[in-house]
Amino acid sequence: MKPDDLLNNDSFSIDEIKLLLSVNDKQSIEKLQQRAYDVMKQYVGEKVYLRGLIEFSNVCVNDCYYCGIRKCNYKIKRYTLEKDEIIDSARWCAEQGFGSLVLQSGERNDEQFIDFVEAIVRQIKSETKSDKLPKGLGITLCVGEQSSKTYQRFFDAGAHRYLLRIETSNPELFKKIHPDFQLYERRLKALKALKEVGFQVGTGVMTGIPGQTIDDLAKDILFFKEMDIDMLGMGPYIVHSDTPMNSYYYEYSVRKREIYELALKMIAVARIVLKDVNIASTTALQAMYPLGREAGLMFGSNVIMPMLTPAHVRNDYQLYNGKPCIDEFTSDCFECVQQRIESTGRPVAKDEYGDSPHFYYKV
Ligand code: SAH
Repeated sequence: MKPDDLLNNDSFSIDEIKLLLSVNDKQSIEKLQQRAYDVMKQYVGEKVYLRGLIEFSNVCVNDCYYCGIRKCNYKIKRYTLEKDEIIDSARWCAEQGFGSLVLQSGERNDEQFIDFVEAIVRQIKSETKSDKLPKGLGITLCVGEQSSKTYQRFFDAGAHRYLLRIETSNPELFKKIHPDFQLYERRLKALKALKEVGFQVGTGVMTGIPGQTIDDLAKDILFFKEMDIDMLGMGPYIVHSDTPMNSYYYEYSVRKREIYELALKMIAVARIVLKDVNIASTTALQAMYPLGREAGLMFGSNVIMPMLTPAHVRNDYQLYNGKPCIDEFTSDCFECVQQRIESTGRPVAKDEYGDSPHFYYKV
């Protein structure tokens, strides 16, 4: 069987997904990209939706071996933004026309943190209402594993989308890149709880984790389908020097181009298999190659998260080395983002939520 013959299939077996992820010659990659683009156009449209990203705290109770803000990285200065500063950034986000916001942070499960997040969500919802956004900014949360009760509180406060990456759907591999107290089963349970509460749920994996195979990645895509997820955020794994996985630096630097291409192929194949979900073109792609986010759009993604984290803390929120724009004094403004996106021939949504069509059209 040739991968090209599969592209128009409606459903895919694990072997077929593996075949698609394995294409390597220029012509087959172009065909894959073209098919992903066509599927995207048909199911979610060509418009690119924006979510301003505010990384409001780097305090974290977890110790993921790949992540620069893991609790055992004592080299970084920990911060949590003041409520007023977060609200100001959110207001700017709404004024710019981004339509939605992602509030991301390290994970904390204490009552003080939960109260804080809940209060911020509530205030942002009420203070960003306008003629253009009658319900206020769309809010996506990305604050890790929490109890069902906590998720319910966040939802009731007005957040309606939640991102929680599975990181890898292979429990063995998950175990290798996390300490023993971080359990795969708990992550899975949290994803299910988010769905039950009623969130539009996003998940995703890192591509190029040491030891990860094409089989793992194909299973990741089937996992997204089985879990009936609404949104995807996937990107390449990038080494951070102050983490235990820095020992892979040499392997990583040799494989960099391959990992980048694999990350793009994951976007394309996920689009072809899952069809009507929202897929983000992540900052990690841009960290690897300056035009990585634009490339992600060409491979079938339809969401971009412009950086709105206040400049004075950006340096302290580095999940991986080479994060772009940390030296800039301003946030991404609508015009800059628009220009970059329009350079790929895509229209940009202004003042729109751009929810995942999959959430509304479940079969
Ligand atoms: N505490 C939140 C936010 C985590 S950071 C949560 O648990 O969801 C957001 C994502 O960044 C992670 O899910 C992970 O997939 C990604 N990330 C972390 N370190 C990375 C690295 N070194 N390279 C690439 N992606 C990384």
